[in-house]
Amino acid sequence: MKPILDWSVYRDAGMGDAYADIPKSGGDFARAVAVCINARQCEKKGKGVMCPSYRVSDSPALSTGGRVRLLKQALNGKLSIADHALAEAMELCLACKGCKRECENEVDMAMIKIEYLAQRYLQQTPSPRTRMLAAMPQLLERHAWMQRLISLRNKHALLARAGEMFAGISADVSVPEAAIQSYAMQNSATQVEPVPPTTQFQAEVVLLLDSFSNHFAPQNISAAKKVLEMAGYRVFISRAEIGELPLCCGRTQLAHGLVDDARANAKRMLAALLPHVEAGRTVIGLEPACLLAVRDDYRFLGLGEGAEQVAAASLLFEEFIARESVAGRFKLAFAPVASPTPLLIHGHCHQKAVGAMKSMRRVLKLIPGLQFDIIDSTCCGMAGSFGIEKEHVAMGRAMAEESLLPALRASPTAGIVANGFSCRHQINACEQREAKHLAVLLCEQLA
Ligand code: SF4
Ligand code: SF4
Repeated sequence: MKPILDWSVYRDAGMGDAYADIPKSGGDFARAVAVCINARQCEKKGKGVMCPSYRVSDSPALSTGGRVRLLKQALNGKLSIADHALAEAMELCLACKGCKRECENEVDMAMIKIEYLAQRYLQQTPSPRTRMLAAMPQLLERHAWMQRLISLRNKHALLARAGEMFAGISADVSVPEAAIQSYAMQNSATQVEPVPPTTQFQAEVVLLLDSFSNHFAPQNISAAKKVLEMAGYRVFISRAEIGELPLCCGRTQLAHGLVDDARANAKRMLAALLPHVEAGRTVIGLEPACLLAVRDDYRFLGLGEGAEQVAAASLLFEEFIARESVAGRFKLAFAPVASPTPLLIHGHCHQKAVGAMKSMRRVLKLIPGLQFDIIDSTCCGMAGSFGIEKEHVAMGRAMAEESLLPALRASPTAGIVANGFSCRHQINACEQREAKHLAVLLCEQLA
């Protein structure tokens, strides 16, 4: 097998270790798989997010190590890459990156799954549903009728049934509806308002306008921009050239293994971000999966030095505010909160994977009097589009029932903060409650 992604960061993994058990084919990809030492720590329970599909199934084949065991057989030529058990094990990996953080050897199954899917597509074309879900940001941009169709589908059971029959989208769950106007449409004029040359700023930053915030939650971008500006930062918004499709990090294509499509989007994104980074601006992302695609996943796409430069300058919104606050540069005052019930915080799996919940805690403490509980939850089960796919909806719900939904029900009047777009949708789909992004909470509490 010739790897499709760039796995060169694993080139020295297992070198000189007679017990490394590196598969015979697959080159650096095989080394990335072989960092698993098969000690089966991942088959023990009660370890935070790792591994949601194992937690709800109790099947060793659906643990991180179980997937590795099957993959090694395939790379050693003992199993077809299309083998049913292997295909199912990979299909039921939610790419949550829980293993990247919690496995004793940091197995990165989320990236391994992308390589696996890309290899499968060399033999078999992706399904129409895969293509549709992967291209959703571009479809929404090009075809305004898609938004109307989704809205109608959510209102009429017959249409939802048709969607399940023909597109494989479960009729039992709502589908996220885009805002009437995307952020880019609402703010099409200029990248940044002209400022008098004498104006002093703390620093200049660029907000990553990801496809989810742009199409589904433009209020999050507006809120983050306002908070940062009130704190004294000059805020640019990442944008495509006038007349071109809005930028997209390519997360949806990566998640579905469409590497070439993702790389094309990543190149456009990098071309737009690099001048900002060269001007000394930090790239700030609101949607964990998108910012971390830019920071962590692009290095597997072979995009060169520019990708490294942008990655080194990229932070999640909460990481940026926490860093600036510790450094004494972020001094914004927030209005006190006197809520009888603690606010509930649900972390996106990718936030947890990079340790960003510490930053969330630090930023929330900037609001005087705010009581909050960070829910000790595994993946919410939505994981991009996983939780709306007809064959996965039940498993996604079971993951949500592990800890997230019981915690929400135990506090029926509490406010909820969730920075992940799909987490917010799962909370709404299962409990009919609205969760908000941290940026919106901070904006509401501006003194
Ligand atoms: S995936 Fe990680 S935790 Fe699981 S067996 Fe392999 S090394 Fe151990
Ligand atoms: S990425 Fe998440 S779902 Fe996939 S193997 Fe790792 S912990 Fe399990």
